[in-house]
Amino acid sequence: MIFPKELPVQIKALRGTRDILPEECLRWQWLEGAARAIFRTYAYDEIRMPLLEDLAVFTRAVGETTEIVQKQMYTFRDRGDRDVCLRPEATASVVRAYLENGLTAAGRQKLYYLGPMFRAERPQAGRQRQFHQVGVENIGPSSPYVDAEVILLACRFLEALGIQGYRVLLSTLGEAGERSHVAARLREHLEPGLDRLSETTRATAEQNIFRLLDSKDPDARELTRSCPGVIEFLSEQSRTRFESVRKILDQNGVRYEVDPYLVRGLDYYSHTVFEITHSALGAQDALGAGGRYDGLIAQLGGPETEAVGFAMGVERLFLAAEAETSLTDAGRFLVFVVAADESAVPKAFEWVQALRSDGIPADWDCTGKNLKAQMKQANRRNASWVLILGERELSGNSLTVKDMATGEQESMDADRILGWAKAQFADE
Ligand code: AMP
Repeated sequence: MIFPKELPVQIKALRGTRDILPEECLRWQWLEGAARAIFRTYAYDEIRMPLLEDLAVFTRAVGETTEIVQKQMYTFRDRGDRDVCLRPEATASVVRAYLENGLTAAGRQKLYYLGPMFRAERPQAGRQRQFHQVGVENIGPSSPYVDAEVILLACRFLEALGIQGYRVLLSTLGEAGERSHVAARLREHLEPGLDRLSETTRATAEQNIFRLLDSKDPDARELTRSCPGVIEFLSEQSRTRFESVRKILDQNGVRYEVDPYLVRGLDYYSHTVFEITHSALGAQDALGAGGRYDGLIAQLGGPETEAVGFAMGVERLFLAAEAETSLTDAGRFLVFVVAADESAVPKAFEWVQALRSDGIPADWDCTGKNLKAQMKQANRRNASWVLILGERELSGNSLTVKDMATGEQESMDADRILGWAKAQFADE
C-alpha cells in the first residue's frame, strides 16, 4: 500500500456522514429508550443484523429496477471476491436473518431494529449517506388488524417523542398477483401523455409504471393526477381488505388520508402501504414509511409467509420533535467531588468511588489543581452538585454540598450523603 508522504491538513468525515457528539448522544439515548419502551409494550423483540451483507440480499429483495439498487448502494468486491454491500435498509436483512436462523419455527415474529443505513444519495438537509432507521417487522399470519396495529404503533411512537403534527398517507397496492393487471391499466391511462415527459421520466415509466406515480417531475405529476390511481384498478377483494384496515384505524382514532398515488420505492410491497410526513422537514418531508410485503420471504427462498412493517428516519424524527417541543437533556446528572487541599485527595477519591458504587454518576479532577481550578472544571462539566472536602470537613466528618444551579451551599453529615445523592439523582 502506498501512503501519501504528507497527510492532508485535517482528515474529515466523509461527505454525507457525521459524528454524533456526546451532547447529542443523550438525545439519541432518550429516543432509543422511548422506542424500546413502546415496542416492548406492543410485544416486539429486538434484532440486530450485520451492517455488511451479501449484495444478493438487496438485489433480490428490493428489486433490480428500484432507485436504491440502481443508484444508491455502497457495493464493493471484498478480498475474497464476494459482492457485498452496506445495507441500504433493514427489511431485507431482517428477512434474511429470520430465514437463516430458523426463526420461522415460532410462527409469528414481531421484531424491531435500530441502526445505521447507507445510501449514496446527494446529501442535503434531512438526507445523509449514513443515516439511521428505527423500524418494526411483523412476520406471520396476515390480518387487517395486523396492518392497523403497525400503523397505530408508528403513531404512538411519534406521540411518545412529542410529535403530534404528522400526517399518515395511506393506500393499497393490492395482491402481488394483480400487479401486472394494474400496471396495464395504468399504462392505458398514462401512455398517451408519456411523450410530454422528459427522457429520464419516460425511462422510469418504461421500467416500472408505478414509479411514475410518485415521481417528483411536475409534468409526470400533472399526468398521473389525471388518472384514477391504483385503488380504482384493484380487485373487489383487495378493496374490501383495504376498507377493513381503514375501519379499524377509524375505530381506534388514527388520523390518516387516503392517497391513491402512494407507491413505495421498493418493489416488495403489496396491499397496505403508508407514509408518514411532517411539515417541519421541508423538501424531504417523509418521516417514515411502511407497508405489507407478503411476497418477500418466499422471494428470498423461504416459505410463503406474510409480513408488514415500517421504518422511520431517526435524524428526521429529531427534526420533527425539535420543531414541536424542546427536547430535554435528561441524563446529564453529575456529582463532582472537589478536594479543597492536598490532605483531602485520598478521601475525595473514596467518595467518588462510593457514589459510583451506588449508581450515582460522579467524577473528580485528579490532577491536583487548586480549589478554584477544580470548581471551574466542575462548571465546565455541567455538574449538578459539587461535594467539597477540606480539612474542616474531614475533621467534622461532613461534606460541603453546593447546588450548581443556585450557587447555594450547606454542610451535610457524611453518613447522609449517599442517601441524599440517590434522591437527587432519582428526581433528575
Ligand atoms: P425508506 O426506507 O426509503 O422508506 O425510508 C424510510 C425513512 O428513512 C424515510 O422516511 C426517511 O425518514 C429515512 N431516510 C431514508 N433515506 C434517508 C437518507 N438518505 N437520509 C436520512 N434519512 C433517510
